[in-house]
Amino acid sequence: MPVTYPKTPVRSELNDPSAAKSTKQAYTRPDVANRPDDELASVVASAQELLRWEDALGGSGFPGVERGRAASPSETGGDAAASEGAQVSHTHLQMLASEAAECTRCELHRSRTKSVFARGTPDTNLVFVGEGPGFHEDQQGLPFVGRAGQLLDRMIAAMGYDREGVYICNVVKCRPPENRTPLPTEAVACAHFLVPQLEAVSPKVIVALGRCAAENLRCVPPSGKWRGIWGEWRGIPVMPTYHPAFLLRSPQFKKPVWEDLQEVLRKLNREER
Ligand code: SF4
Repeated sequence: MPVTYPKTPVRSELNDPSAAKSTKQAYTRPDVANRPDDELASVVASAQELLRWEDALGGSGFPGVERGRAASPSETGGDAAASEGAQVSHTHLQMLASEAAECTRCELHRSRTKSVFARGTPDTNLVFVGEGPGFHEDQQGLPFVGRAGQLLDRMIAAMGYDREGVYICNVVKCRPPENRTPLPTEAVACAHFLVPQLEAVSPKVIVALGRCAAENLRCVPPSGKWRGIWGEWRGIPVMPTYHPAFLLRSPQFKKPVWEDLQEVLRKLNREER
């Protein structure tokens, strides 16, 4: 299937005026004194959730606050592991990973130490797609193991999932030089792996981490606004949000990301009913 090509580097998130606007709005303090009791309770609950989220992301800390709950078997798709279809998917993914380790479809193979296919479990209802491997990922052959990965783990825990209870992969499987955004030709070449990878896992929801991932999943509307706007990839809902590496540089955007992930949880809860 054709894949749209990124025209704007992920770094442009820093200059996304729509993001700045939404963040400003999100931080506007509600006038809780004038709200009815039930609305006040809702506001308090939201504030408590936000505190937990900020704590999880390395904020000042709130001792005694419960971290994310453990995911149930139905949330992680554990039941599917026993199915024959799941075993076929596992085998297919292993074959794809082996192929990626030897792949020379694009120039990125020249400088890689290890290809980086995925981490986590394919028996899940939740997949995160990032941009491409960085230095630590290239060395270890696993996605999201550096500082951004540690932040992503805390985000996942704040959602109530175990880090191994979700599936995490990237648009390209080999590290771009200097951690630059993958070129369109590289993203297209590596769709040879990403497309069957996502089809094999077949999650209930995909979270696109950063604009590059959102564009390559065809989830950036013509309006240019992309974060927090539901898209769809082959029938699977996609929530585009900021990349953890961006959050490390710009922690003021933690709150909109939290709101996006809350949307994801609401979508998953609806799907489970
Ligand atoms: S980035 Fe993807 S397409 Fe390019 S060499 Fe690596 S595995 Fe092959």
